[in-house]
Amino acid sequence: MRALRSADLLVAVGADLEIGWLPVAIRQAANPSIQPGRSGYFEFAAHVELLDVGGVADRALGDVHPFGNPHVHMDPVRVASLATALAERFAEMDPEHASHFSQHAADFVASIEQKLPEWQARVAESPGAVLFHQDANYLFYRFDVPIHGFLEPVPGIPPTASHIKSLTDSLRSSTGVVLHTTFQPERAPQALGEALGWSVVRLPLEPPVESTGPDYLAHIDRWIAAMESRP
Ligand SMILES: [Zn+2]
Repeated sequence: MRALRSADLLVAVGADLEIGWLPVAIRQAANPSIQPGRSGYFEFAAHVELLDVGGVADRALGDVHPFGNPHVHMDPVRVASLATALAERFAEMDPEHASHFSQHAADFVASIEQKLPEWQARVAESPGAVLFHQDANYLFYRFDVPIHGFLEPVPGIPPTASHIKSLTDSLRSSTGVVLHTTFQPERAPQALGEALGWSVVRLPLEPPVESTGPDYLAHIDRWIAAMESRP
């Protein structure tokens, strides 16, 4: 709230990802220029096409992604278009430095475009993965790597013994890797990995706070390396 009070621009992911806290923080900050609809409010999800639009919209069921999957930052192509859109917003707010913003965005876009063929080649033979939550879907869809299932029976609902058993039964003859993030509990991924004889890899879902462009590329590199791994 303190940061929002003096902010010129608020950048959110959107698609209700921050619904639990951001609307309250915006209201309490009482800064008119960062209210939704104003030029100081920018939503990533509003600038790209979302996957899985039209799911069940009952928040009592958990982190159900009512407006589509909000974990857009895992797609480097969508992140590249975000950079361009953000540079345009910066330029509207500070026209004097417009060329500076657009040049930096163009450099970042170029750095992503340069990596795409390498990432695609590295995962071409990937056996695919089971994820914990529907949080890395964009990365898998981008490079056409199969997702064999999710440890959560429904997004936001913790894994159950019966769901792990049905995953184990249906995947017994497949190969892959169990991928989950650092803030998800380890027990269910370990149980599934052991039952199937698959490796289990735990990774952060986001690059560290205050990361730079190269840090984002390194983040995607780590996920690509995990997708390459085999049992
Ligand atoms: Zn989610």
